[in-house]
Amino acid sequence: MIIKCKYCLPQTGIEVPEFSSSDRNCLLDCNKQSPLRAILWIKDNFNLNLDIAKYIVTHINTDYGHCNRCAYNTLESENINCPKCGAFNFNWP
Ligand SMILES: [Zn+2]
Ligand SMILES: [Zn+2]
Repeated sequence: MIIKCKYCLPQTGIEVPEFSSSDRNCLLDCNKQSPLRAILWIKDNFNLNLDIAKYIVTHINTDYGHCNRCAYNTLESENINCPKCGAFNFNWP
């Protein structure tokens, strides 16, 4: 799956793996404890480089429905670009 965020490079977007629900739970947990842990977890488990792992983690919102960049708090689907600011959000329940 390709995701794009107008605030982040590359502008063409990046290819990200399809995360299973257990991957998601693990990432949400890791990210709450320490975003760096989540980044390293992706890097090790999906064999991705650090830049891509970082890109992914910065787009995981810590509160479901809340944009990771602005105050918008009614994001309604997964893998969504915020209707207010345009930032990409994984938005996993
Ligand atoms: Zn972004
Ligand atoms: Zn937003």
